[in-house]
Amino acid sequence: MIALADCNNFYASCERSIRPELAGKPIVVLSNNDGCIIARSNESKALGYKMGAPYFKVREQLLRDQVHVFSGNVPFYREVSEKIMKLLESECNAMEIYSIDEAFLDFTDVAAPDEKAILLKKKVFEETKIPISIGIAQTKVLAKLASHIAKKHTHTGVFLLHGKDLVARALSHYSVEELWGVGRKHAHFLHDKGIFQASQLAKTDETWLRRHMKIGGVRLARELNGIPCFALEENRPSKKSIMTSRSFRRELTSFAALNEALCNFASSCAFKLRKQNTRAKKIAVFIQTNRFKSYVKGHSAYLELEFPIATNDSIEMIKGVCQLLDRMHDRDCHYKRAGVIVSEIIPDQEVQLNLFSEQNLVKRAKLMKVYDAINHKMGEGTLRLSIQGTDRKWARKNEPIAFRN
Ligand SMILES: [Mg+2]
Repeated sequence: MIALADCNNFYASCERSIRPELAGKPIVVLSNNDGCIIARSNESKALGYKMGAPYFKVREQLLRDQVHVFSGNVPFYREVSEKIMKLLESECNAMEIYSIDEAFLDFTDVAAPDEKAILLKKKVFEETKIPISIGIAQTKVLAKLASHIAKKHTHTGVFLLHGKDLVARALSHYSVEELWGVGRKHAHFLHDKGIFQASQLAKTDETWLRRHMKIGGVRLARELNGIPCFALEENRPSKKSIMTSRSFRRELTSFAALNEALCNFASSCAFKLRKQNTRAKKIAVFIQTNRFKSYVKGHSAYLELEFPIATNDSIEMIKGVCQLLDRMHDRDCHYKRAGVIVSEIIPDQEVQLNLFSEQNLVKRAKLMKVYDAINHKMGEGTLRLSIQGTDRKWARKNEPIAFRN
């Protein structure tokens, strides 16, 4: 058995978890610098607010409805996520973290999986104040479906999708595009062939599926029939690239302010690389003016550079970013958005050591270790390069902005 634990309205629940007075009150969370709605509590869903709605369009309505509005605080959400994942991990044999708010848990040999799930859900709520739903089934695809049922159609927030009849009933209620792993292209194709319900897909002939949807289609159908084809991936391969970017609340008019922002983004990328014991071969910078303003001079640019040896050293990355920005920046432009992307990421151990710099490399790795240890102990940003600055004109405000108690 596989269980999928999924946090309900995760970002909104995180905000509520530290403000118990918001229990039962509508909450929305906004994207980077308050562009649009990216999370809603059940109460704000019921009020009709849509995912992705631009903030400026619904601002007045939010005020009228007394909705509590928060600027997204991803570092905080990550912290909460880590806490929940640790908790879940301690309660099962194996686990795959699927996203910031979802994890597959190995429930093999669990005698009463639904009872265990109810206890687990209770424990997570007690310790983090985050409500979760748990769906349990024979396969990942079915567990994903079960968690949807758990969230939408149960009072307990737990659903065990097991037994031929129950599975068949569930599959007849879901359309193919609602299934995990079915993209728009496949959904279109299946519709074209008259396959709309998950139950139809489950009964589709394997040879036909193999011919038209390759092995992916066959696996999907098997999973729907309770035959596991997707194993738990305990060590998911690390990401192919890492990006840190921001849309600025106010356009950055000076080179210094933009440079400071990018240095901080580079430092954050380097930290993420070190955290997962990897290094990147390439670093890129992009800068953009506001596309929606026609009266200012528009400019957008992207430049990248390759390091001689893959690195995760903050100092080296910041140096690279400064060089790139120097080459691409236009002093007449006001920049609205900028970011740093590191790519061609490889594990630490795979780094080809250049004989001449080996000594230096070891020393710098040690330096970064101390750097991270101090920041971990004293708080992020305690130790930083002077070029990362203290102005933080580029930083986001992080507090409720539309409605205050
Ligand atoms: Mg969720």
